Amino acid sequence: MKIKDILFEQKEFKLLELPYKYNALEPHIDKETMEEHHNKHLKGYVTKLNKALEGKFIPLSEIFNNIDQYDSAVRNNGGGVYNHNLYFNLLSPKPEKQPVGELKEEIENYFGSYDDFKEKFKAAGLGQFGSGWAWLIYHDGELKITSTPNQDNPLMSKEGKVIIGMDVWEHAYYLKHKSQRGDYIDNFFEVLCWNKAEENYQNIING
Ligand code: MN
Repeated sequence: MKIKDILFEQKEFKLLELPYKYNALEPHIDKETMEEHHNKHLKGYVTKLNKALEGKFIPLSEIFNNIDQYDSAVRNNGGGVYNHNLYFNLLSPKPEKQPVGELKEEIENYFGSYDDFKEKFKAAGLGQFGSGWAWLIYHDGELKITSTPNQDNPLMSKEGKVIIGMDVWEHAYYLKHKSQRGDYIDNFFEVLCWNKAEENYQNIING
């Protein structure tokens, strides 16, 4: 299934099937963390979202566009479902580790080099106080790095569309890295697949 379909074209909310095994991202992300993250945390968001919507299905795009009309259970668990489906799909055991295609050109336009981008993206992840996410987003022809608390995302705030999302909740790294969020972020870049990021970018600019 294409990432676009996973994020927005679902007909029901159910647990995403990972395109790799729990141990496939080792040594960068360990099996225990992946299993907890997918089979406990994401599963919990899916279950609680369905409960909060009382069995009714509302597309995530519709929820995020009208986020002020929903209670915190829909906001937190709807964000949790979208953010994690995006995140898990951006990771790969055999990632393309350098930016590719048009997104590579735009990364260089906006941030200088890939190393400069990584430095700024890491700073956004480290700078997010408490639980949250760091993002690479696209808005009005421009790329931007931003961050959000909890399970919020830039679609809710209409800040932009999401190319890359990095989970910086402690549950994403604490089992392996304890409090060292920076070490987790360095390892995230080792499994982040730029072919997937380019796919997200193309989906955004081609509508
Ligand atoms: Mn998470």
